[in-house]
Amino acid sequence: MLEEKVKKVIRDIPDYPKKGIIFKDITTLLNNAEVFKEVIDYFAKKYKDIDFVCGIESRGFIFGSAIAYAINKGFVPLRKKGKLPYTTVSEKYALEYGFDEIEIHIDAFKDIKNPKILLVDDLIATGGTAEAAVKLIQKIGGIVVAAGFVIELTFLDGAKKIRDLGIKVDSIAK
Ligand code: IMP
Repeated sequence: MLEEKVKKVIRDIPDYPKKGIIFKDITTLLNNAEVFKEVIDYFAKKYKDIDFVCGIESRGFIFGSAIAYAINKGFVPLRKKGKLPYTTVSEKYALEYGFDEIEIHIDAFKDIKNPKILLVDDLIATGGTAEAAVKLIQKIGGIVVAAGFVIELTFLDGAKKIRDLGIKVDSIAK
């Protein structure tokens, strides 16, 4: 089963980036050709009919762009504040201390009406980042069909934030 395969290849790094946090390192999934391909194929098979894949900086770019390529659709990067060169809209979200902000190009979905979007990131923890991403996509007219994650940290219940917005959460490993 894919969930088991993913769990087997990701690596837990204790006390990174700070003491008490166990970081899920997905680089050991990326360099495993078989599992990386199966992860991309999992999403590609289910979301053939969307218009764009949106990926969250930065690990969401790796998975999101590969999925977009596999289904022959465009990829849209959601980036940290100040990184996108053209006119943007932005959304702030709370962190443990302070806040962060992500942006999207205002014309990212070109002139497609009600574009269907698959949002992608490597991992959902508190759900704050993904929630901001959904709001950002909606601000420029996108319809988020689903939010896909390779890993969901269920004990933080971040998926609830996304479901409460009426959006399906599709996580491979929980
Ligand atoms: P959230 O906003 O608390 O859901 O955090 C999710 C964001 O933080 C995603 O963009 C993840 O890439 C990143 N993140 C948080 N914890 C981890 C981890 O253990 N491994 C990899 N990325 C993480």
